[in-house]
Amino acid sequence: MFLIDAGAGRTLTWRGDMGRLIDNLGAAGIDPKDIDAVLMTHLHPDHAFGLIHPDGSATFPNAKLFCTDREWAEWTDPENLNRNDFRSEWTGGALEAVTPYRDRLRLFSVGETLFPGVSTFSVAGHTAGMCAYIFESEGQKIVFTGDVCHHQVYDPAHPEWYFHMDYDTNPQQAADAKTAIFAKVVTEGIRYHGYHFPFPGIGDVVPLGDGTYHFHPEAVAPRH
Ligand SMILES: [Zn+2]
Repeated sequence: MFLIDAGAGRTLTWRGDMGRLIDNLGAAGIDPKDIDAVLMTHLHPDHAFGLIHPDGSATFPNAKLFCTDREWAEWTDPENLNRNDFRSEWTGGALEAVTPYRDRLRLFSVGETLFPGVSTFSVAGHTAGMCAYIFESEGQKIVFTGDVCHHQVYDPAHPEWYFHMDYDTNPQQAADAKTAIFAKVVTEGIRYHGYHFPFPGIGDVVPLGDGTYHFHPEAVAPRH
């Protein structure tokens, strides 16, 4: 069983309502021990720190950790610990989060097919190695995009916008990646999952014909 990203976990205190992944997995009948692989879109705190419990032990004791080599190089570089900006704290947290997984780490180059029906696509810019995962089964495709978008209305309406001039590693590349993934999902008929979108964050990206897009969200109930 795959998990894509590990959430913020219970060590991160950006907001009081974070750290619910384990409870929500339980509500869905999923034991963290049953996760075979965690596929990381990127190693920012709200996607990676949940890899461990507050005591540093692995949240997913039987899971291999998948991450692009470029993402790993950016966010596990000890040199970042000497910086005077957010990168010091975020790298320190990432290094702690990945520690129990180092003996079951699978680094890959973006673009690789990881499993039958699971391919990868670069959406670098927000981070240097951010990766989208495309799942294909029985003629249907869905992509999990990481933080290529943060808002379900503004981002499709403004594909030329980037997220943040500091928190994006390369803002212009981030905007270009958004344009590229929108074009890809439209051309190839891929359903879209956006992190930070309202639950469940899945829907269809529709071109409006003027270079902008609209995100049509699906209802909470899964499509059958
Ligand atoms: Zn991020």
